[in-house]
Amino acid sequence: MNRMNSSLEQISLQQSVLTGPGPGRAWNFNAGPAMLPQAVMEQAREELLDWQGTGISVMELGHRTPQFIQIAEQAEADLRELLSISDNYHVLFLQGGGTGQFGMTPLNLLRDKTTADYLVTGHWSAKAYEEARRFCAVNVVADGADTNYCAIPARDSWRLNDDAAYVYYCANETLLGLEFHDIPDTGDIPLVTDMTSNLLARPLDVSRFGLVFAGAQKNIGPTGLAVVIVRKDLVGQARRDIPSLYDYALQAAEQSMLNTPPTFNWYIAGLTFRWLLDQGGLETMAAVNRRKAEKLYAVIDDSALYYNEIEPAHRSEMNVHFRLRDESLEPRFIDEAEANNLKALAGHRVTGGLRASIYNAMPEAGVDALIEFLHEFERRNA
Ligand code: PMP
Repeated sequence: MNRMNSSLEQISLQQSVLTGPGPGRAWNFNAGPAMLPQAVMEQAREELLDWQGTGISVMELGHRTPQFIQIAEQAEADLRELLSISDNYHVLFLQGGGTGQFGMTPLNLLRDKTTADYLVTGHWSAKAYEEARRFCAVNVVADGADTNYCAIPARDSWRLNDDAAYVYYCANETLLGLEFHDIPDTGDIPLVTDMTSNLLARPLDVSRFGLVFAGAQKNIGPTGLAVVIVRKDLVGQARRDIPSLYDYALQAAEQSMLNTPPTFNWYIAGLTFRWLLDQGGLETMAAVNRRKAEKLYAVIDDSALYYNEIEPAHRSEMNVHFRLRDESLEPRFIDEAEANNLKALAGHRVTGGLRASIYNAMPEAGVDALIEFLHEFERRNA
């Protein structure tokens, strides 16, 4: 059982809250770096010093050895299987996280164009927009500022530019938990999406996109890696004055090994993909994720103490943001939750409030534990 902070309220919660997902482990609701599947962590621990009888850790294994190439190729094959990615897409494992892709997107996809379209629906799409402005003219298709980024602007208000090199949007704004539940139709103009916080949460029709990217530290693995899925016909026309590491075509030609890649992260990503396949793939994850999010929003909506400000049709299934009607109680909520093994529920420093990130690796039991705590805290503070 977790050691309690004696200055905090001792509350009687069920054992599952206190024991977490495994001995010595907490229910970690951090937005990223986020919880990884317990089975992945255990396998990594098991193999840490000696990868499959080599006497060498994956961290120490040469990236061009047959052993590592097998790890890398299997990871790519498993990701392709999970998302049914066809051969006309490259799958790249790059460094620089999600933010790296904010720059690499215009550097690679502008081609002979000078302008790109951006939908601004929150913090991360705004960051991507700012980065793109360093390299090209940017047309803001729509901006959710008038709803404080609590809703996706209505389609009939979007101003798409026929001459845009691509249309960019963030599929899941992690801070407030604002998620697209469908794929915008942009005709022949390639669609680019940042899925850092919702890739692999459910099946995805990759064929609708020119480029899908995700920083790894939510649904994929440890931070420091970005997965990039890009249509082959869109690469090969990157600006010439950029570092070769940022050029998708050059990376693709070298299987993402233009230099020494983050091998351990790639390996963990591979274990996560394998774990997802073992769970039954993304249809299974989708059903569990929907159930977890629905039950959590239901408790918040039914409460007199908690509330969620996002337009219900655009609520995220990955990041559930909520506030307390009496905001002065929020620090106590966070401290008591921590003392009861429910970790990292504070909202982002930009937004404040509270946030439960419930990615693939958060078991339903973790959400149940949080719900039990929400009820308990409300009973005592109603
Ligand atoms: N996009 C989204 C949707 C994110 O949530 C984040 C990070 N939380 C980023 C991009 C930036 O990722 P990174 O920190 O890996 O650069």
